[in-house]
Amino acid sequence: MSISPFLSELERSPVIGNWIDGRPAASTGDRTQDVFNPATGEVSRQVAISSVKDVEAAVASARAALPAWANLPPIRRARILNKFLALLNEHRDRLAEIITREHGKVFTDAQGEVTRGIEIVEFAVGIPQLLKTNFTDQVSTGIDNWTLRQPLGVVAGITPFNFPVMVPCWMFPIAIACGNTFVLKPSERDPSASLYMAELLRQAGLPDGVFNVVQGDKVAVDALIDHPDVKAVSFVGSTPIAHYIYQRSAEQGKRVQALGGAKNHMVVMPDADIDRAVDGLIGAAYGSAGERCMAISVAVLVGDVADKIMPKLIERTRQLKVKNGMELDAEMGPIVTRQALERIQGYIEDGVQSGATLLVDGRVGADGKPFTVPGHEGGFWIGGTLFDNVTTDMRIYKEEIFGPVLACVRVKDFAEAVELINAHEFANGVACYTSDGNVAREFGRRIEVGMVGINVPIPVPMAWHGFGGWKKSLFGDMHVYGEEGVRFYTRQKSIMQRWPESIDKGAEFAMPTAK
Ligand code: NAD
Repeated sequence: MSISPFLSELERSPVIGNWIDGRPAASTGDRTQDVFNPATGEVSRQVAISSVKDVEAAVASARAALPAWANLPPIRRARILNKFLALLNEHRDRLAEIITREHGKVFTDAQGEVTRGIEIVEFAVGIPQLLKTNFTDQVSTGIDNWTLRQPLGVVAGITPFNFPVMVPCWMFPIAIACGNTFVLKPSERDPSASLYMAELLRQAGLPDGVFNVVQGDKVAVDALIDHPDVKAVSFVGSTPIAHYIYQRSAEQGKRVQALGGAKNHMVVMPDADIDRAVDGLIGAAYGSAGERCMAISVAVLVGDVADKIMPKLIERTRQLKVKNGMELDAEMGPIVTRQALERIQGYIEDGVQSGATLLVDGRVGADGKPFTVPGHEGGFWIGGTLFDNVTTDMRIYKEEIFGPVLACVRVKDFAEAVELINAHEFANGVACYTSDGNVAREFGRRIEVGMVGINVPIPVPMAWHGFGGWKKSLFGDMHVYGEEGVRFYTRQKSIMQRWPESIDKGAEFAMPTAK
């Protein structure tokens, strides 16, 4: 694998800056923020916190690039994305390493994240087929009618810390394949991967200005939303910010999709294969330290399942291998920041105070001392936490903890499980473990959640199916990626055309009808 001078420089540079007009750009602002290695707790670098001027420069570059890019035949845009796809595959492990160093998730999980991003690029290279539209010959004598799907213009993506490669890839490959130009505002907590992808796009032959990155915080986000040249906003992050982005963008008449937080349940029916359900719960609750929007944070145990499953869950939660994510046998890495760690610890205390039964306390190690990982005492560590007898009035049930905390709720039957889940304000993902086909079918039909898994704990849809939750997990009309993504990043135009064969009847005042 060849590493370009830029990529080696990127990995050494003390300040992570912007990418504007096809090249790195220093921020004109004077603010920076620490970027940590969560496994050691050390500050690895600084990230620039962009100013309004930086955003204006990025949008101006995207706007200048737009006419030529939008006019390029889709097959030629796809060829560039095909080269990008090859480069992503070549650099997959490097990107995964960058993710692990700044996010903390284990390396194998980071590889999986990059692969899920690559799948969207694989979908986007089919754009000529996806942009094909409808044509009706002879809607009236001598008149044809067809539709076009045309790009929107400059579009923006604002992304969360927990998938610094995959979530941007939910957006920009499809947006640019459709002929838009793009400005990405990645999370300030793990900003490096965005620049790495920008350089790979440049190497793939993407014209300058088609893809830009501005690092930063609320200042950059607000400037992007409010910029008159930004025509659409895609957002993924927590629910309060998603709601804010949705309102502020919609108020200005912009197209917006804003994906928010989650509280995903997994129902275990009495007829389920208990060992498989335990595997499903342990991986989905503690994988990526629970910092996934599709993590399972509530187990809904039906009938006598709790008594059968609990001893196994306790044992497996205690056995989790919590280590620096770069160690290949690690199952769970650190939490992204110290503040996030303290928030999670606070929720555990809240659960105890509100009367839930704490079966495994991730705050405490096997030696009874505060949980840590030997040799990495400065890191942001916590073990897996397991609660039983959680009730729906508790904060640990109602709110998104976004950490390795599994809350078990006991219910008497299937109907109560469905009712409980349907009453929750979040509705991103859900799973049901059962060996009964009718239960599975009814669950899929009755549950009011955007993404459903039957004996699949984390049902993240494939690239061509589209991703999105319901209720407070998504504000807007369209899901991300898949054909919904193509619809989001294009607007429909209907063209009706007649080439009169000298049939000039003069003006017609009655509503035109088929003749
Ligand atoms: P976050 O909401 O704190 O940040 C997301 C983005 O918004 C970042 O780029 C951040 O810089 C920006 N931002 C933060 N505060 C802002 C403000 N006041 N005004 C404008 N912009 C602001 O989310 P996070 O902590 O980075 O990510 C975790 C959250 O994302 C969780 O709630 C998780 O469930 C959610 N998430 C949802 C999905 C989904 O598909 N529904 C996917 C991944 C993550």
